Amino acid sequence: MVLSELAFRLKTSTPVSHKVTKMKLNSVQLANLIDLIVTAKAESIGCDGCYELMDQFAQAELDGQTVPQSLEIVRTHLELCKCCRDEYAALLTALRAISE
Ligand SMILES: [Zn+2]
Repeated sequence: MVLSELAFRLKTSTPVSHKVTKMKLNSVQLANLIDLIVTAKAESIGCDGCYELMDQFAQAELDGQTVPQSLEIVRTHLELCKCCRDEYAALLTALRAISE
């Protein structure tokens, strides 16, 4: 799903009421919205994109560094995608073997 489509759906799904003059998002709605955006982005990098960033992500995790925001997308993709998760597990095993 592309973000513009997501935004469109959010707009069109807002109930129209004459009493509501301003749309306020509570924290739960906001969290859901962010989740949707993150998920849409994670899907958009695809497995190829994930694979390209995976070694940087694995290195940061192994070094105990804070994973940069730009790589959080990898974590999200891994949660969504089993084949990349398997790939990542294999990569971690390999990196750990090298560093020992
Ligand atoms: Zn994938």
